[in-house]
Amino acid sequence: MPDPSSPIGSVCVYCGSSNAADPRFLEAATAFGGILARENVRLVYGGGGVGLMGACARAAHGAGGRVLGVMPDFLRQKEVLYDEVETIVVGSMHERKAMMFEQADAFAVFPGGIGTLEEVVELMSWRRLGLHRKPIVFFNPGGFWEPLFTLLRHTVDQKLTPPAFMDTWSAVDEVEALLPAMREQAVSGVPSPPLVIQRM
Ligand code: AMP
Repeated sequence: MPDPSSPIGSVCVYCGSSNAADPRFLEAATAFGGILARENVRLVYGGGGVGLMGACARAAHGAGGRVLGVMPDFLRQKEVLYDEVETIVVGSMHERKAMMFEQADAFAVFPGGIGTLEEVVELMSWRRLGLHRKPIVFFNPGGFWEPLFTLLRHTVDQKLTPPAFMDTWSAVDEVEALLPAMREQAVSGVPSPPLVIQRM
């Protein structure tokens, strides 16, 4: 049953495009696609049929969910455009990211490679700049994202990032916990961190 009090109608999933990923990651992406469909939350994703993104989209679509894919023209073949769902073909990676951002109310970050990292780091930097307050939740199976979290904490320890930044996202280790964590962030009203770190 959809949660009528939830302000989250669309979730963007950032995730790997590799078919060789740990099968448990692929299973988790499939499970999350099913959860989104069941909760009547639209999936916004990169439009491909490969890797975790393909798994998530097929599962959401197969379960009767709404899906929007956003694919840059030059990747149509490479990422095997999944055209059984609504798809927008754009001209560049920048347009893809902008559209995925605009179309989503919250973001789930699954295990991925450099492309996933690029997407989530931009999203987090926009949050740090106060350009949005959309929930960001990492799916962190087996501590997959800990090296990134360690690096982020390091920038805080070095007074290059305000400590409040660490409250602008969260991590869960079960796919079932993703939507509840997003809803919690949406209602908790965590403020944007200050733009300038105060002098000590
Ligand atoms: P990866 O995690 O490397 O498998 O990439 C995951 C997804 O991110 C793939 O669909 C890539 O095409 C996409 N991606 C990589 N770099 C960018 C970028 N700069 N802008 C938008 N999407 C990207």
